[in-house]
Amino acid sequence: MPKATYRIYPIYLGEIPEHDKSSFTYMVDMGKKTTCPFISFLLLGSNGRKILVDTGPCDAEWAAEYHMPLNIPAGCELTAILKERFQIAPEDLDYLICTHLHWDHSCGNHKFPGKKIYVQKRELEYALDPLPIHRGTYESPQYGVVSSWVKAKDQLELVDGDTEIDDGIRLVLLPGHSDGMQGVLVHTEDGEYLLAGDCINLYENWTGNAKLRHIIGGLHSDVKAYFKTYEKIEALERDEHIRIIPGHDPAVLEHEAYPVPHTPV
Ligand SMILES: [Zn+2]
Repeated sequence: MPKATYRIYPIYLGEIPEHDKSSFTYMVDMGKKTTCPFISFLLLGSNGRKILVDTGPCDAEWAAEYHMPLNIPAGCELTAILKERFQIAPEDLDYLICTHLHWDHSCGNHKFPGKKIYVQKRELEYALDPLPIHRGTYESPQYGVVSSWVKAKDQLELVDGDTEIDDGIRLVLLPGHSDGMQGVLVHTEDGEYLLAGDCINLYENWTGNAKLRHIIGGLHSDVKAYFKTYEKIEALERDEHIRIIPGHDPAVLEHEAYPVPHTPV
């Protein structure tokens, strides 16, 4: 049987309109404002699989109270987009993958009742008892609210490290941004794509600048692990010629799907 191939569809779910860029690029461009789009990814397989990666943020009201002001334009609700753009209902999905449990990636988890949600074991462990500075980011129990991902906690399917979960779908542990951050390696007609989540927020994290080969993100739970993770991704580039899709780069949304069809010369 030939290996399944997938098309990757980024889905825009609103944005933080005024975001300090250095939270994406550690110690680089401090004070500079940028936008932070929220992006989920739908994977449609040649084998008929329908897989959702990340479920986006809470609504603007909740965010204004517990996080920050958001801009969520009309028509940006995830289940409505799945229905209208892809004719997919929550029950049609095979399973979900959460790159990590930060609120802007997991607040829609409860919208998919009964579906497995793959998360790293160590991500859940940390999310339940993070350092005080990360409690808001996880909406962890100590934060005093019941977060959406906790509502869907029974659906979490825990994995421990790099794991092939399906034909053409591999989870890779990429700690640094968070302890149990994971990327998704997706097999496509154009080779392997890495959905890097917040390990690589922007293309710039990976392309670096004149001084740094790569720039780690400004939000992290472990800087040393972050650098090791970038070495791991370098090895994936070298050995498997992966292509990278960042977690929050507006440029990701310039294409309807990946691989981008080749333009005839
Ligand atoms: Zn994050």
